[in-house]
Amino acid sequence: MTYAVAPPWRKSSTLAPWERRGRYATLEADSYVTPAAPAGSHPLAEPALSAALRARAEAIEVAFGAVEPAVRGIVPRQFEPGFAQSACEELRAALGIDVPPAMLRATWTSPLDARALYARSVLGTFCRLVERGFDRNLAGLAEGDDAEALVHRWGFHAVDVTPCADGRLGGLVDYILRVPPALVASRTPYAGAMFDVEEALRAWETAELRRREEGRSAVVPARYLKIGVYHFSSVDPAHAGCAAHGSDAVRAATALLERLQQFEEAVRRLHGSVAAVATLLVGVDTDTDAIRVHVPDASGRLSLERAVDNAALYEATKNVSREAAKEIVRDAVAACAGVSANDAATEGMRWFCGYLLKNNLGQVDAVRAWHGGSYADRGHTERLIVAGDPMEDVALRNLAFQAQLTTVEEGAADLDVGMKILRERHEAQDLCVPVLVHVRYDRQIPGAHLRAEARARRLREAIFARYARIEPFPDPYVEAFVRGGEGALEAVA
Ligand SMILES: [Zn+2]
Repeated sequence: MTYAVAPPWRKSSTLAPWERRGRYATLEADSYVTPAAPAGSHPLAEPALSAALRARAEAIEVAFGAVEPAVRGIVPRQFEPGFAQSACEELRAALGIDVPPAMLRATWTSPLDARALYARSVLGTFCRLVERGFDRNLAGLAEGDDAEALVHRWGFHAVDVTPCADGRLGGLVDYILRVPPALVASRTPYAGAMFDVEEALRAWETAELRRREEGRSAVVPARYLKIGVYHFSSVDPAHAGCAAHGSDAVRAATALLERLQQFEEAVRRLHGSVAAVATLLVGVDTDTDAIRVHVPDASGRLSLERAVDNAALYEATKNVSREAAKEIVRDAVAACAGVSANDAATEGMRWFCGYLLKNNLGQVDAVRAWHGGSYADRGHTERLIVAGDPMEDVALRNLAFQAQLTTVEEGAADLDVGMKILRERHEAQDLCVPVLVHVRYDRQIPGAHLRAEARARRLREAIFARYARIEPFPDPYVEAFVRGGEGALEAVA
């Protein structure tokens, strides 16, 4: 189910006052002062932002890294007197989570279910991080125009991102694209980025309806931008690419381009609005986080062959000044679109593509600095599956596989991909795969809370029925939660 509601920059009530004043860097209006880059790093690197992102990644890693030692530490003492009480306190102290007392009761005939306890602790840790509420707003680290002004300058009224559900794209918005979350109206991952065209059409209609209700469509001519994101591996292309497309980058990009074209065509046929939507195709190298932006030509058409490759752009810009580097990015985008750098008709889209490329150069630089060029974990090390509605709160590479689904029947293919991906890591250690069912509801809609709980229960039971003790899947450990708006996670009994 896609939740494309008002662009988030309008949900000012959910933001802290200083966040509402958030201002972001742009490629065009770069009037702010950037912290000096350390010697040897790229002229467009953003060291302060990179350091903040790294600190957040480390905090998340540390939290999950504590789970196994904490659970292993209590298991050998399970038959000691007063165990349930002391184990409960230990887990609370070590992981900050509460484990139900029933899970800690052990007798010699019915010992602890350590597999369930481990999975419960992983899910509990994830929920605790969600509640801790990492500040995903990067406003404090860069200045420029506010999100709404920026999006309008590009000629868009909403930006919708549809990536593959692969956990290595988990940090897409914050890390890889380094885009303020306020710019992204909806992010809906699917296995292989194979989004549902009808669902995407409904999301567009909802956004368009809201604009009309607010009387904005007549005043500000702007388009809805849908970005499809596929991925590939530059180091091990035949094995570490997209599992949903047989690790074939061309197949992944071709299939996604076709979906984007179907979506555009659907809007045109049903609503006759040729200029209402824009589409963009982006590829991510999951080894280096370098993106490939398929810049549309003057008529808005995308092509698989025509793209700006940021790995090459990094090399071309690493030894020049900051201004010269920006000029090179601008020229590369214009050349890719096949227009002059002054072409007014394509200006908005070209600015946006330049913005993505410039931001991503900072991430490429950071990955090179932190991991010596490319990530050591080329493959999958996801710790859990999030099934149901997408969850962006704890965004990090390789943390969670996000299976976007309304019912298990309809989303089975996506979920199967996720279960197979997590099987390798979990079965080798005789662990269950932790699955968090997540259903969002709108507090303003009467009865929505009860319906969300019912849907969460249905998903939990269907996941268990589909995978428990059934080859070739690993055993799942499933817990269900609902959430009203941006409120707290509520466990479903
Ligand atoms: Zn994929």
